[in-house]
Amino acid sequence: MSFRVYNTLSGQLEEFKPLHDNQVGMYTCGPTVYDFAHIGNYRTFVFQDILRRWLKYRGYSLRHVMNLTDVDDNTIRNSKAAGLSLRDYTEKYVEAFQVDRQLLSLEDPEIVVRATDSIDDMVKLIQTLVEKDYAYASEGSIYFRVAAFKNYGQLTKIDLSGIRDGARIDSDKYDKNNARDFALWKAPKEGEPFWETPLGPGRPGWHIECSVMSMKYLGETFEIHSGGVDLIFPHHENEIAQSEAATGKPFVRYWLHAEHLIVNGEKMSKSLGNFYTLRDLLVQGYKPSAIRYLLAAVPYRRHLNFTFEGLHQAQQSIERLRNFRLRLTQESFSAGENKALQDRARAACQAFEDAMDDNLNTAEALGAVFAMVRDANTAMDRGEFRAGDRAPFLDTLERWDRIFCVLEDSDHEKLVKFGFIKPLTVELADRTGLTDSARAVIGNGHHGAAATELMSDEEIERWIAERDEMRRKGNYARADEIRQNLQKADIILEDSKVGTRWKRK
Ligand SMILES: [Zn+2]
Repeated sequence: MSFRVYNTLSGQLEEFKPLHDNQVGMYTCGPTVYDFAHIGNYRTFVFQDILRRWLKYRGYSLRHVMNLTDVDDNTIRNSKAAGLSLRDYTEKYVEAFQVDRQLLSLEDPEIVVRATDSIDDMVKLIQTLVEKDYAYASEGSIYFRVAAFKNYGQLTKIDLSGIRDGARIDSDKYDKNNARDFALWKAPKEGEPFWETPLGPGRPGWHIECSVMSMKYLGETFEIHSGGVDLIFPHHENEIAQSEAATGKPFVRYWLHAEHLIVNGEKMSKSLGNFYTLRDLLVQGYKPSAIRYLLAAVPYRRHLNFTFEGLHQAQQSIERLRNFRLRLTQESFSAGENKALQDRARAACQAFEDAMDDNLNTAEALGAVFAMVRDANTAMDRGEFRAGDRAPFLDTLERWDRIFCVLEDSDHEKLVKFGFIKPLTVELADRTGLTDSARAVIGNGHHGAAATELMSDEEIERWIAERDEMRRKGNYARADEIRQNLQKADIILEDSKVGTRWKRK
């Protein structure tokens, strides 16, 4: 069966076919590096990782480009507030993003580029658009003339009849009702960073960067462009307009968009107190592999309802798979082969591949493997499993894990490496007052169980700050939840007039 994807541009499932042989160019919109990325962002990044892994699994030669937006309204606002240069401010979040990616086993794209390293190329594309009369200058800024590009709205399928020619918008994000000429280049404002260029002093708008960086590395027409559904308008619509107006060629063949993540059935937002960065979950003791699994488990075009119950189940599911693999490799079976069982393993592999080919139906791909595990466990319990049957089952598991990437138990190692937990030592056990049973764990070299007891001082301070903020906002339920979570990790809070003090139990 061939790989089929849902193309937002056509609104249909389509067979995936590259322009040339098996070469695939893919561009994914990276993060705006003004804060830690949240789990909604990672839902999209995990989907894109699954997509890139599946393309490679199917033998395509992939060139994947991802940008880092390090200049836009948000990065400028926050760096100014922090009293740092744009570069110094964003560097911290670029690094945090790279760490998060490793924690979630996200493969590195072939090319990662910062927007501010491509300003010259953006200037050139804007010059082309001005020359072709698709763009015009006004008060030191340059705007894209939406009315000049006949196909505007092809991705979003919006009705443009309400748009007044020449009405302009300066903000990077706006909704469909505000569709109008948008800024390609923004005149410098008091106290904001700017570049001296042939266009005059200023800085690029958000949308132009992705047109420029994608075409620079992938050519004027390439296969896949992807992001979250919130990027369809205006970001991707504007990218198409800028690129196709400049080149006169189709920009992208397949547009793939991931649906939103919601938390307990509600939109995730800071004001509701249900907003989580990846780090928020890690310091509560949740494992990166479980988070990856949960984010991957729901097909990307469906809403993903994130719950802590779901996260626990994800952890258990991974355990079941790891235990099965352990059983396969460690248990002794009598010699011989059981042909029916071997066929069962191969059928599961086929079902997994068919599901992935069906627009990355990860839920079915998981189902296929779990059904196989159940049948194999039953056969083992009944003594029907033979030594010669190991290979096909291991093969199916290995193929499945090339995409899902959770079988290797590397959580603790990663968390220690990136400073989320300290390696357990007897000295640390004394300081944190670990129980004897936890000390015994140290001796065995299995550290995971005590992870939450080893929250770093910095992490504890951060939780306390968040709790203070929740209390200020009157969200006492969330504040209480944080206190309870800290208590579970043996951190005791004491509130006083001068603030909150804490100690380890
Ligand atoms: Zn983009």
